[in-house]
Amino acid sequence: MDDLEEEIRGRKAQILIRELLALSVSQVWAVAKFEWEPAFVYFNEETNSDGTKHRPGTCLCTHTPIIEHCVIKNRFNGKEATVGNCCVKKFLGVDESKVFSCLKRIKKNINAAPNAEMIAYLIRKKRLEPEEATFLSLTMKNHRLDSWKRRGINHDILRYFDYCADREARKEKPLTV
Ligand SMILES: [Zn+2]
Repeated sequence: MDDLEEEIRGRKAQILIRELLALSVSQVWAVAKFEWEPAFVYFNEETNSDGTKHRPGTCLCTHTPIIEHCVIKNRFNGKEATVGNCCVKKFLGVDESKVFSCLKRIKKNINAAPNAEMIAYLIRKKRLEPEEATFLSLTMKNHRLDSWKRRGINHDILRYFDYCADREARKEKPLTV
């Protein structure tokens, strides 16, 4: 990494901390960072599932475009912020990378097996029935399984993440160009 790149990273880190502090109750970063919990994650490819375009995402640190978005929520005041997967890992110690990689796999192949992180994520979001979670856990290692049940759950997973992305896209101004 060259000096310039390092300087830019340092500056973005400062911006991220400043912006998050502005949304936090405590003004001490060492405390304020524990006010934040992950709310949900979504992919924001430039084209929505219905073919419409929306703005590429921006991390609170100003880095753009970001694809892997994490929406975090303040435990005290309910405020939300959108942070890229990189920054959320680095500054808040939350790592949703395996949820994103699993989502990518399912987008490519509707038969793909949801991994343990995806199953855990969906249970936290109350998006899986206990019976479905059990089925996915028991068949997780069976990558060749050809099952209508797994495909059905995967379709629901894709719809759910699309919904999360759309929810965020609606908050942004539509692209005029
Ligand atoms: Zn960032």
